[in-house]
Amino acid sequence: METQKSWNRILEKIKQQISSANFRTWFSSASLKNINGEKLIISVPSAFIKEQLSLRYLNLIELSSEQALGKKLQIELVVDSSKAPKKNAVQFEEEDIFQLNQSNITPILNPKYTLENFVVGLSNNVAYAAAQAIVQNPGTSYNPLFLYGGTGVGKTHLMLGIGNAILSKNPHTKIIYCSSEKFTNDYVEAIQTRRMGELRNRYRSVDLLLIDDIQFFSGREGTQEEFFHTFNELQTKNSQIVLTSDNPPNMIAKLEDRLKSRFQGGLMVDIQMPDFDTRVAILKAKCQERGEVLDEECLNLIAQAFETNARELEGKLIQILQILKIQNKEPNPQVIREYLGQTNKLAALQNVNHKQVLTSICEYFNISLGDLTGPKRQKELVLPRHLAMHILSEDLKMTVEKIGHILGGRDHTTVMHGRDRIKKLINTDREVQKIFIEVKQTLSAINP
Ligand code: ADP
Ligand code: MG
Repeated sequence: METQKSWNRILEKIKQQISSANFRTWFSSASLKNINGEKLIISVPSAFIKEQLSLRYLNLIELSSEQALGKKLQIELVVDSSKAPKKNAVQFEEEDIFQLNQSNITPILNPKYTLENFVVGLSNNVAYAAAQAIVQNPGTSYNPLFLYGGTGVGKTHLMLGIGNAILSKNPHTKIIYCSSEKFTNDYVEAIQTRRMGELRNRYRSVDLLLIDDIQFFSGREGTQEEFFHTFNELQTKNSQIVLTSDNPPNMIAKLEDRLKSRFQGGLMVDIQMPDFDTRVAILKAKCQERGEVLDEECLNLIAQAFETNARELEGKLIQILQILKIQNKEPNPQVIREYLGQTNKLAALQNVNHKQVLTSICEYFNISLGDLTGPKRQKELVLPRHLAMHILSEDLKMTVEKIGHILGGRDHTTVMHGRDRIKKLINTDREVQKIFIEVKQTLSAINP
């Protein structure tokens, strides 16, 4: 009794110093065996926890017990395997390692996908929070976790992130990660080879079951039946289940109602297509991973150009970086723009007439038509004039003579000169380029 009280006081002190997640992870299974003279003997359920506690928290335990009990004590950690909780009841004996390898449930999760490198934004923050909650309390509150969303939005990444996080908290966790096709194939094979028992042992003994793209269970009655029982058994044992799909359960065709209702009984969250800010953040993270640096403006340009999922976005980024490397160009906004063909993308304005071009330019620069076509040569008028020359020539395919005529009777060589000058500026001057694109955009708006 006295021992328990002392231990509680020590735990209180420890609790104040570390996150609640870490506290639960490392101290919930520890207990105070006794205080033996100058020695405080703490018992833990496994060698792993003992090792981790002494690595991470020995000082903290020492300090906390001194604060709580008023004297300095030597800390000793002992393993008491009878304390091992049932759920993670894998004493990591050599035999187990062997069995794990034999039965193919060695947790081979691609370490590339972690929660740390999952970029969080508005499109996926709920799913991310759910993932974190699962890692902190697997098998309890949200079971199953059902992640759904379009292709390339990060479902598999997040699911493996959960697996890797749980694994790093407890390396003994038995995990199976597979696609729904793999589960189906295993099932079919087990029937053919009459090894149903083995299959069941394998899938029903895990602490964490991750099944990707569950929509492929559609129409597979036998598989669904088998999975239903697997699911129930795992849920009863408080083993965590995480599923992904392209759609919410009720939208998956030919899926048994009882499975639908099981899937809906946990936590369902969707991951949406990344919004602009998330796309920028994803690009930034992917650059960092590859040791590349792109400035904010470059990232913005790419994120703007591709309103797409994370996978495609990363693909585009890699493409751009590769092409620039081949061309021996440093990535900067200008070359990125060139690559993106922003300028070409604003399609030729076929159905706009020259009057509309001039009016739009005047409106944009807030000048009068008289000024634009008049003789004055102030800088404020020269840029709009040159821009008009360029657009009339490139987009409306007017001759330089005609353009000269429209712009107040200017010589065709003047037009040629102005047109070429602005063309160059568009490729070299950020400000001019911006203006050019904006003017073209207002014109495209008129363009039917
Ligand atoms: P899904 O399973 O939804 O089709 P994936 O999880 O396979 O998509 O993600 C596709 C690619 O995009 C992967 O390389 C993944 O790492 C990356 N990815 C997706 N979402 C994110 C994110 N939020 N942060 C970082 N990378 C992401
Ligand atoms: Mg996937």
